[in-house]
Amino acid sequence: MNRAELPPTAARASSVDSSPVRDILALTARPEVISFAGGLPAPELFDGEGLRQAFADVLAEAPQQVLQYSLTEGDPALREAAARRLTGRGLPTDPGELLITTGSQQALTLVSTALLEAGDVVLVEDPGYLAALQVFAFAGARVVPVPTDDDGLDPVALEEIVRRERPKLLYLVPTFQNPTGRTLPPGRRRAVAEAAERHGFWIVEDDPYGELRYDGEPVPWISSEPPAADRTVLLGSYSKIMAPGLRLGFLRAPAALRRICVVVKQSTDLHTSTVDQAAAARYLRDRDLDAHVGVIRRAYRERRDALLAGLPGALPAGSAWNRPEGGMFVWVRLPDGLDALELLRCAVKHDVAYVPGAPFYAGEPDPAALRLSFVTHPPEEIGEGVRRLGDAVRELTA
Ligand code: PMP
Repeated sequence: MNRAELPPTAARASSVDSSPVRDILALTARPEVISFAGGLPAPELFDGEGLRQAFADVLAEAPQQVLQYSLTEGDPALREAAARRLTGRGLPTDPGELLITTGSQQALTLVSTALLEAGDVVLVEDPGYLAALQVFAFAGARVVPVPTDDDGLDPVALEEIVRRERPKLLYLVPTFQNPTGRTLPPGRRRAVAEAAERHGFWIVEDDPYGELRYDGEPVPWISSEPPAADRTVLLGSYSKIMAPGLRLGFLRAPAALRRICVVVKQSTDLHTSTVDQAAAARYLRDRDLDAHVGVIRRAYRERRDALLAGLPGALPAGSAWNRPEGGMFVWVRLPDGLDALELLRCAVKHDVAYVPGAPFYAGEPDPAALRLSFVTHPPEEIGEGVRRLGDAVRELTA
């Protein structure tokens, strides 16, 4: 019998296929590789015992409830705990303003589905968070890059691009950005909020790293700027302060948009895992998350400092990098003429890895840029990793 060919898969899905970077990084799964590539939180810092107890408690006490279907909006106790935490950090929030999501990654998809028609313009930082670019591409949006400098998004460039492109939404990670580690200063946050007020566009403020501050003072959220209060969606996550495997995050959005996100989420996964939410809420009730975040901060500060201490001896003369006040990433620019992808090929032979910067750009990529994540390995291994990186640089430039 003749077998008819199947119709093709959607073009938008196959456009995010294999990439040279992914192919090379696949070679770094060997245990001897010291990787500055993945954004993986340090697993030895997970509070496994505290979480085990929280799961055991909720399963022992209310199995019929925590194993049952539940509300799309999320576990009331978890929403309350999340709202209290935001309020305590300076953003007054009612539990009713929050929707619990399956990681903040899902929140991005929900907002994107709720707001975007094919062809709508989305502005992003250039470079910016890669998986957000993919979400907007899946929605059929036209992604337009906004230039950045050492302080993040350039508000003057933003103004000009907004006038030209009439965007529907601006997506940004203002604090300890992925991939650059940069933080947008208060004046620029105000300028972004005022631009949204003046021109009418949504702001999606993605903040999975804000609690991981090692020096300096917290900077207020764009969500707390009055001009943008009715047009900003804040995304939060428990991935970096509790554990990413829980897949717990939330979005805080104005009522009308939040209601649409609830409907979208209902059709996506009905709700985030009942038992995971209940265990997290129990953990937040019985344990001291602030103390745990303090432990993570101290460990990551040491790791950042170990990386920064090693870079001058490893990178070629003329390289430049930043000193982030928090988060997980340092952004490096090699001297002109050096290619971060080429150096990665050499680095992998020396059992060390990182991510070249190019894939993070929606606009013209900078082939000399690269991202170093400093949180996955303890300081001694970071020191060894940086020495290997130095060997790779010397081999490449010899
Ligand atoms: N936004 C940014 C900027 C991220 O870096 C990440 C995780 N790498 C996420 C969102 C997704 O986090 P979650 O685990 O909460 O889905």
